[in-house]
Amino acid sequence: MSDMGLVVVGAAGRMGQTLVRIISETDGVHLAAAVERGGSPHLGRDAGEMAGVGANGVIIGDDPLSAFAKADGVLDFTGPVATVEFAGYAAQARIAHVIGTTGCSPEDDAAISAAARHATIVKSGNMSLGVNLLAVLVEQAARALGPQDFDIEVLEMHHRHKVDAPSGTALLLGEAAARGREIALADNAVRVRDGHTGARRPGAIGFASLRGGSVVGEHSVYLSGSGERIVLSHDAQDRSIFARGAVKAALWARGRKPGLYSMRDVLGLD
Ligand code: NAD
Repeated sequence: MSDMGLVVVGAAGRMGQTLVRIISETDGVHLAAAVERGGSPHLGRDAGEMAGVGANGVIIGDDPLSAFAKADGVLDFTGPVATVEFAGYAAQARIAHVIGTTGCSPEDDAAISAAARHATIVKSGNMSLGVNLLAVLVEQAARALGPQDFDIEVLEMHHRHKVDAPSGTALLLGEAAARGREIALADNAVRVRDGHTGARRPGAIGFASLRGGSVVGEHSVYLSGSGERIVLSHDAQDRSIFARGAVKAALWARGRKPGLYSMRDVLGLD
């Protein structure tokens, strides 16, 4: 099979630049196009030069439709509004769509699911092998340690530029804990605490977010019982772990039947 041509949308972003670099280092894929939002100061720049891997002749443009027409897949770490739009375009173009964007609302997720009737979509709040393995461990731990004896809290820290909270990864880990407990996260999540909150409700899954500096992503799941505590943690030190996972997901999705898949499917962790 020929090399898979990938479009990076949000090519000037932190993840976008990392994706351009990882594509240049990975066999079996090449950068077919690079897209940024209209009005971005980076339009017209060479995507490889911007990513620090040397000029590659792929000029950052603002026309996703023509970019998608000449590609086999799109890697998307942008924002929810853009991602919903790209899901529609990728479905029209019948190409794989790998979505790393976090902070999507239930309505955004419904639109992405609708697009997945025609396109192969892999969406995950975290594309790294380590976090997806951690989610499996959290699910097992939550199943083994019942809600009467153990309280579950998810703590995350990210760099000062992050715009959504809790992080997509924290929610992914919360979902894993809820699955282990066979409860719905939406009915049990405590996403904010402030003021006189009252005592902790048994079975709640709590979240806390820290922001500062250049932290790529730290997550810890606390399972706290009377007299003992288990902490399951992941420390992301480099964005390339997410980019490598995204490229792996695109290669996995190529030629697969339409549907909405997760990184656990890609990594065979279920
Ligand atoms: P960033 O702000 O550095 O980059 C986002 C880029 O998308 C910007 O350059 C922006 O101009 C561009 N963009 C926005 N709208 C666009 C549009 N309509 N068309 C084209 N480009 C558009 O942010 P970041 O740190 O790279 O993170 C991006 C997203 O990826 C966030 O939601 C973040 O939480 C998520 N993320 C996910 C993972 C994962 O593994 N799933 C890992 C890291 C970050």
